[in-house]
Amino acid sequence: MAQSFVEPEKTPLALLLLGQDADPDSERGVECPGDLPPASDPDLVARAAAAKAALGDRVFILGHHYQRDEVIQFADVTGDSFKLSQQAAARPEAQFVVFAGVHFMAESADILTADHQTVILPDLAAGCSMADMAAMHQVDEAWQTLTRWGLAESTVPITYMNSSADIKAFTGRNGGSICTSSNAKRSLEWSFERGERVLFLPDQHLGRNTAVRDLGMSLEDCVVWDPHKPDGGMTEEQARSARMLLWKGHCSVHGKFTAESVDDVRERMPGITVLVHPECRHEVINKADLVGSTEFIISTIDAAPPGSAFAVGTELNLVRRLALRHPDKTVVFLDKAVCFCATMNRIDLPHLVWSLESLVEDRVVNQISVDPDTAHWARVALDRMLALPGVASAPTD
Ligand code: SF4
Repeated sequence: MAQSFVEPEKTPLALLLLGQDADPDSERGVECPGDLPPASDPDLVARAAAAKAALGDRVFILGHHYQRDEVIQFADVTGDSFKLSQQAAARPEAQFVVFAGVHFMAESADILTADHQTVILPDLAAGCSMADMAAMHQVDEAWQTLTRWGLAESTVPITYMNSSADIKAFTGRNGGSICTSSNAKRSLEWSFERGERVLFLPDQHLGRNTAVRDLGMSLEDCVVWDPHKPDGGMTEEQARSARMLLWKGHCSVHGKFTAESVDDVRERMPGITVLVHPECRHEVINKADLVGSTEFIISTIDAAPPGSAFAVGTELNLVRRLALRHPDKTVVFLDKAVCFCATMNRIDLPHLVWSLESLVEDRVVNQISVDPDTAHWARVALDRMLALPGVASAPTD
């Protein structure tokens, strides 16, 4: 007897057509009212250029370093998340700020720009796996536990830029500061002048790497707070004696690199300089030659003499562009496996065209708006970071 085909059940992580439908379990929601141009449309580049030209100074397009080439070609400025938000704030004539990045970056841009500026994220599904690993109710529970143990008063929250606006606001309300990968060391030094321990959110690797590598702590000084376990999976005594309470979060892109990735590239390319981002695991950092932010990675390769060779542990779009920019140098990806930031890559040319053409038609789509109270306290935490010596003018992420 012939069997009829039965459509399989949708998995929690079902891949949806770009711009169509929504999967609330895995995404923040995808909404593209109107027609999303097909990716096969040969006129996409011309349409994006025409829409951008029609909008003129009213639109300012921010392109994160990890963004794909087809989108980055339309960026007015490229950079890390914090630098981009600052650039948008410095362009008050830009009524529309289109952020080719991920959700938390657009939130930061909304917090830092003026009220008359509208921030747009071309695809609302462009989230960040790391930021999503710290949900507000989990952080609230953790803080309640620390309060019950009598430890909250002596604990300073330090939150990485790669976090949602409400976690930034929690940090501001509770006497803490934001940090970037460039100023995490200074932020930790600042916090240890104010408290006995730090609750570091949401990237355990940046927290551990900074504490151990830059501040000389031991791995035993760092304990991981697991939001999926009662009391973070630790005892009161463990929390009390820790100097770093590291939130159990990580970047799914930088977390892919392993110590074996480093061993392998050194074997294949003897003498190569291994240059990695501090969101990588601690064992990768220990084996690398140089560790630093995306701006550090870019400036190091830019300044290196011809003939230099680098294996770079960060997002692949950036590494590819660096390799193309320096044909006189060898720039390779640290791992053999391809590793893009999948969520950031949701922002593609069809979504950029759709958002720009909508603006031309006086239709604001996918606006990212942070409520005033959250924005206020997030701003307090950001301002504490900016008040650190030398931070306001330094590169960031
Ligand atoms: S590279 Fe990692 S931290 Fe950055 S946006 Fe992508 S998932 Fe988030």
